[in-house]
Amino acid sequence: MSAVDAKIVRTMCPMNCHPTFCGMQVEVESGRLKTLSGDKDNPDSAGFLCVRGRATSEIFGNPKRLLYPQIRDDRRTDIWRRVSWDEALDFMAKRMRSAGPEAVGLWAGHGGFTVGSAVTVQLMQRFAHMYGCQNWHPAMVCWGLGGFGVGLTGALKVNTKEDMAENSNMIVLWGANISSQPNTARHIVAARRRGAKVITIDVRRTEAAAQSDEVFLIRPGSDAAFALAVMHVIVTEKLHDSEFIEAHTVGFAELSSHVLPFTPAWAAAETGLEEGQIASFARAYASTRPAMILLGGSSMHKSANGWHAARAISCLPALTGNFGVAGGGLGPRHGAHSAAMCWCGRPLIPTVLWRSGVIAR
Ligand code: SF4
Repeated sequence: MSAVDAKIVRTMCPMNCHPTFCGMQVEVESGRLKTLSGDKDNPDSAGFLCVRGRATSEIFGNPKRLLYPQIRDDRRTDIWRRVSWDEALDFMAKRMRSAGPEAVGLWAGHGGFTVGSAVTVQLMQRFAHMYGCQNWHPAMVCWGLGGFGVGLTGALKVNTKEDMAENSNMIVLWGANISSQPNTARHIVAARRRGAKVITIDVRRTEAAAQSDEVFLIRPGSDAAFALAVMHVIVTEKLHDSEFIEAHTVGFAELSSHVLPFTPAWAAAETGLEEGQIASFARAYASTRPAMILLGGSSMHKSANGWHAARAISCLPALTGNFGVAGGGLGPRHGAHSAAMCWCGRPLIPTVLWRSGVIAR
C-alpha cells in the first residue's frame, strides 16, 4: 500500500435524514475506508455528523452485512442457504411467472428507498411497468400518510430550518423528535438563544423536550383532537387572521362550524391535558408571530386515520396568517421539500381545506 493510493472523497451521509443529508469527507486507501469525518465545507451541515453518521464507518467490512442472496426452502424454519445470483434470479422469475403479474407487487425496502438512491426505486418502477405488476410506494407506511394529510390542506411546501433559526418567535415541535433530524436541532437551539419560545407536543419526553420551554404530553393518537380544540379556541375567541383567511383560503365558514363541538373540555378528555392548557396554547400560538410548527415526520401518522392529524394541524398556520411569512408556516418536516418562495420570489401561500368539498386555491 502506498500513499499514492490514498485519496479524500467528498460525499454525503448515507442515512435517511431529511430535509437534508450531511456532508462527509472520507479518506480511502487502496479501496478501503480509512477515516470518516464531517465535511466542513458543506454549506448546510458545516462539518456536523451525528452519532448515526459517524457510525457509518462500521458498515464497511462488517461481517454481519448481507452481501449475497440466500434462499429459505422451508418457511417454517430459519435455515437459509447461500445461492448464486443466477439461482436467486431464476427462483424469483419462476415464482413470479407462476403467480402472474396481477398477483405480484414490488415494495422497495425503506433502506433501499432512502439510502439506496432514487435510481434503485426508479429501476423497480420501470420493471413493474414493463412487467405489469403493482409497485408500492414505501413511504405509505408512515410519513407518506402525513404528507398526504398536509397535501390535502395545500401545505406541502415548508419553511427552511435556517429561516426558523433567524425569524421564528415560536417553534412548535409537534411530534417532531430531533433525533430523527439532528441537523435541524442546532437551528432550534439558535432560535431559542435569540429568544424564540419552543414548545413540544408529543406522547413522551424526547430529546426535543430538553430544548423546550413548555412540553405537552398527550395520549397517543389524540393529536387531531388537540388541533381541533386549538382551532375551536382560535375561532370562538376570534383570534384568527380574517384578512389572510379572506385573501388566501376557502372553507372558513365550514371549518368554523365544524370545530364548534370540539371544545377544550372535550379535547381534555381525549388528550389527557387540562382544559386550560389547551386554551392557553391556542392563545399563545395565535398571538405570536411568526410561529412555525415543525410537524413530526412519521409516528403521528402510524395509527388508523392518523393522517387526519396532519390535516388538522396544517390548518393552524392558515387560520393565524402564518403561511407565506418568514419564520412561520410549517417547519422542515422529515421528507418535506423546502420551498417557501416561488422562483419569482413570491411566497407560496398554502390554503385551508377541511372536509371533502372544500378545495384549496
Ligand atoms: S443528521 Fe446524522 S444521520 Fe442524518 S444525515 Fe446528518 S450525519 Fe447522517
